[in-house]
Amino acid sequence: MRASSTTIPLARDGKKCASRQRIWRSAMKPSISVLGTGRMGSALARALLRAGYRTAVWNRTSEKAVALGAHGATVAPTVRQAIDASEIVIVNVSDYAATSTLLRASDVTPGLGGKLIVELTSGTPQGARETSGWAAAHGARYLDGAILATPDFIGTDAGTILLSGALEPFTENEDVFRALGGNVQHIGTEPGLANALDSAMLALMWGALFGGLHAIAVSKAEGIDLGELGRQWTATAPVIEGLVVDLIKRTNAGRFESDAETLSSISPHYGAFQHLKELMEARRIDRTVVDGYEAVFQRAIQAGHLHDDFAALSRFMGET
Ligand code: NAP
Repeated sequence: MRASSTTIPLARDGKKCASRQRIWRSAMKPSISVLGTGRMGSALARALLRAGYRTAVWNRTSEKAVALGAHGATVAPTVRQAIDASEIVIVNVSDYAATSTLLRASDVTPGLGGKLIVELTSGTPQGARETSGWAAAHGARYLDGAILATPDFIGTDAGTILLSGALEPFTENEDVFRALGGNVQHIGTEPGLANALDSAMLALMWGALFGGLHAIAVSKAEGIDLGELGRQWTATAPVIEGLVVDLIKRTNAGRFESDAETLSSISPHYGAFQHLKELMEARRIDRTVVDGYEAVFQRAIQAGHLHDDFAALSRFMGET
C-alpha cells in the first residue's frame, strides 16, 4: 500500500532509500477486508489468512463470516466497520448490483476514500468501467478482477485471477494477489479488460460443458456407458485443445483460406455435424444449441467458404 502515512528512512541525499523502503514494505503487510464470504469469498479470505494477512470479513448472512473466525479472521458486524478495518477491500458477492448496494450505501461510501477496492465479483466490462469511475469519484483506487478458478484452486499455484485497472495498485500489492493464486496477472489498465477476457474464457468453458451435455444425451440414447465416454474425452482432449488453439492462432493471423497447415476445412466438419444432427433428431434429443451451430455453418457455406479452413467461420459470428 501507499507509504504516505508512515515515515520512511531517508538516505543522506534526502531521497527515500529504495532498499529500506522495500524492507519497510515487506514488514508492513496491508490489512485486507473481504466483503462477501460465500463459496468463493470464503476461499479468498482463507488464502489471505494462510499467507499471514490480517483479514476482516463481512457477509450478509453473518454465519458464513463467523465461520472464518476459526481461521483467524476478524468478523466485522457492518460493511462500514469492515471497510474501516483495512487498506484493501476485496469484494466478492454475486453480482455488481449487490456490490452497488453495499458500497453505495450512504454510511459506507464516505469510508472509501484512500482505500483500494478490488472487485472480484463476476460482471461485464461496462460494469467494471462504471464502478471504476464511481470509485475514483469517491477517492478510492480500484482494480477489477476476474477469477478463472473454482474455490479449491484459490491460494494454489494453479489459481488464475486476471486484474485490470491502474498498474500502480497492482504492483504495490502483488504479494497480496499472489497469495490468492499463483497465476495472477495484470492484463491492462482499461478496467473492463479482466471481465471481457473472463467472458471470452467462459465462452470456451460453456462450449465444452454444453458439448458435454450433448455427448451425455447421445451416449445415453445409444446405450454407451458414461464411464467410457469419460475415458474417450480424456484421451482426445489434447486433440480438441489443439484445434481450439489452432483456430485462435489462424483467426489472429487472418489465415482463413485452406493451406498446407490446415487441420480440417469446414467441409468435413459440416459433414460429421450432419451425422450428429440426424442422430439427435432420431433420438429426439434437444437441438436448440446445435441449431445455432447450423446457422453459423450455413452463413459461411452460402458465402462460398465450404472448403476454407474452419477458422473462416469466425468471420460469420456477427460484428467483431
Ligand atoms: P455464493 O456462494 O452463492 O456467494 C454469493 C455471495 O454473494 C454470498 O456471500 C452472498 O451473501 C452475497 N450476496 C448476494 N447478494 C447480495 C446482496 N444483495 N447483498 C450482499 N451480499 C450479497 O457464490 P460464489 O460461488 O461465492 O460466487 C461469488 C462470486 O464469485 C460470483 O460473482 C461468481 O461469479 C464469482 N466466481 C465464482 C466461482 C466459483 O467457482 N464459485 C468461480 C469464479 C468466479 P449471503 O451469504 O448472505 O447469501
